This record gives sequence, structure tokens and C-alpha cells, in this order.
Amino acid sequence: MFGGLRERLQAARARLAGSIQAAAAPDPEKNSSHPPSHPASGEHDVQPDSPATPSLASKVKTFIIDRELVISEKEIAGALDELEITLLESDVALPVTDAVIAHVKKDLIGKHRRIGQSVDSLVVGTLKMALLNVLGKGFDLTEYIKNHGHPVKILFTGVNGTGKTTTVAKIGFFLKQKGFTVVIGAGDTYRAGAIEQIEVHAQRIGIKIIQHQQGADPSAVLFDAVQYAVSHKIDVVLADTAGRFHTKSNLMSQLEKIRRVMKPDLVIYVDEAIAGNDAVVRALEFDRTVGADAVVLTKADMDSRGGAAISIAHTIKKPLMFLGTGQAYDDIIPFSPEGMVEELLGDA
Ligand code: GDP
Repeated sequence: MFGGLRERLQAARARLAGSIQAAAAPDPEKNSSHPPSHPASGEHDVQPDSPATPSLASKVKTFIIDRELVISEKEIAGALDELEITLLESDVALPVTDAVIAHVKKDLIGKHRRIGQSVDSLVVGTLKMALLNVLGKGFDLTEYIKNHGHPVKILFTGVNGTGKTTTVAKIGFFLKQKGFTVVIGAGDTYRAGAIEQIEVHAQRIGIKIIQHQQGADPSAVLFDAVQYAVSHKIDVVLADTAGRFHTKSNLMSQLEKIRRVMKPDLVIYVDEAIAGNDAVVRALEFDRTVGADAVVLTKADMDSRGGAAISIAHTIKKPLMFLGTGQAYDDIIPFSPEGMVEELLGDA
């Protein structure tokens, strides 16, 4: 997942550490506890002019412990430009890129007194905090369900083909494994074959499904699904909906009606990570018109750029809840900002 971004971030990290190292240690004897002529085992000084590579990143180990380190904007300007380009080319939205760069600047520029750590770990720590700052907190669905009156009603919406129906099934499977009882409402009565598709999923994962005929009022189906959950003391209702109608206003009014009738506790917007910034723009528009409580990004396994996953929470101010990571029912992982940052920047 996000392998391309990981590689490029590691390179940007090495470049940044290299710039600081070069600025901090014109005379390495003064600033480094490991003079270049006698590097400790496995530790080497950075050659600032050499091209930054991921392997170089792991070699920036010179410690600056005995005196203060002062970093000026000029010294790291080139490395910051590179980081900015890396993020933009990875499809990270511009305001999110700006936020990351601003955070890194604020954190790095100025004095670092007896930092007691390697330049590289200073840089990695800064990059991690900058990313955590934009990634938000995630959304723990299991905790939410535990702390909420039952049935918890969850409405799924999103563009057709992005993996919405599969996501409903995956989350059903996930919740079943966590010990919750689940019913699925087949609320996509618009698209031909949609009811059969979710029915097959429900049978495979052993979850009850409530369905009507194609063309039926989705609000009525989902109302029935909620009634079923109430009368059978089911913990969670997962409501599938159509991703598209004749017109956008038709879709909006259908969703409005569903909201009124079903009164969902959570509205989840589903889109695919591979859509990059388009997914972010669509999520923003959806949130503005209909409102969303959280986002699921599917097909993260096919996305090496990572831009949507990084941008979405900061852009729409709603948490990313799950990442879809494949076509099997257990190919879904609760989104963890710390986990993502570790995957992108953790020491190889
Ligand atoms: P919907 O039209 O939005 O309901 O989309 P579907 O659920 O029918 O999924 C469309 C296609 O995307 C199917 O072939 C799914 O198997 C596939 N898909 C869904 N989620 C993922 C995912 O996380 N990773 C991958 N690789 N494929 C996925």
C-alpha cells in the first residue's frame, strides 16, 4: 500500500536530513559526537551533495548532542521544495500539502537545544507529526457501536463502481467477527443486479438481508431493515444505497428521504483511493450537500500514491474510517493515522 509515496517520502526525508546535517556541521568535529573520519559501526555522515535515496535515509545517524543546532529557512528551502513536489505529485491536495510544509517549517526552523538525537530522527519525528496533524484521528467503529444505542444504523453512499457494495459486506463481516449481530438493507434498488449482488455477499458472510424488488422505494426497504433489527434485537443495520440516479437532484432527494425515514446514526461516504484528488473533491461535495460522518477509501491496495488517504480527513474535516485493501471480505483495515505514518516513515 502507498509504496510509491513511501519511497518518495523516504527520499525527501533523506534530503531534508542531509541539508540540516550539511548546515549544522561545517566542522563535524564541533557538532558531531561521531567525527566522519571515525564513524561508529553502521553510522556514517551524510554527503549533502549526493542524490537523496531511501537507502541514504537510514545512514543519517550522526548525533548532535553536545551543542545547539540552529536551522535557517534558507538551509532547508531546497529540501522543502522537494518535499512539496513529492506530496503534490503523490496527489496530496494543495491545502494539505501547504499544511504539512508549514508544520515542518515551524518545527524545524530555529534553535534546537542539545537535541540529543540524530538529525534523521529529528526530521522523521517532524514529518510524522506533520502528517499526523493532517490525517486526523480516524474513527473507531467498534467503540462507537459499543457506546451507542442499538440498533446502530449506518448508511453507505458513494459513486458506483468504487466498491461500496463490497465495503458494506466487508464491514458486515468485520462486525460479525467482533461479535455484533448485523442486518443488511438492500437499498440500491436503482441499479440492475445490485440487489442480487448484495444478496450473494450476505449469503456468503452469513448475514440476514432485507430486500424488495428492483425499482422499489429505497426508504421503504431501509425502514423495513431497521424494523427487523429492532424486533430481532440486532446490533447494527448496514444500509446500501444507489450511487447514481437519473439526475443529481434526484439522488439528493432520495438520500434526503432515506435520512428522514431511516434516521441513520452514521452516514459513510465510500470512494476509491486510486481516484486520488478526485475522490477528495467528490467527498467534499458530498459532505456539503448531503453530509457525511466518515469516509471509507477502497482499493488502497492498488494505490501507490496515497494522496487521497492523506488529504481526505483534513479537507472535509471528517475522519477516514477504513481502508479497503483487496477483494476478499477480510481485506479491510480500520484506518489508523499512526499506522499509516509508521508505514510511510517508519525505519526500514
Ligand atoms: P459498487 O458499484 O460501488 O457497489 O462497487 P462493487 O462493490 O461492486 O465493487 C466494484 C469492484 O471493486 C469489484 O470488482 C470489487 O471486488 C472491487 N473492490 C472493492 N473494494 C476493493 C478493494 O479494496 N480493493 C480492490 N482491489 N478491489 C476492490
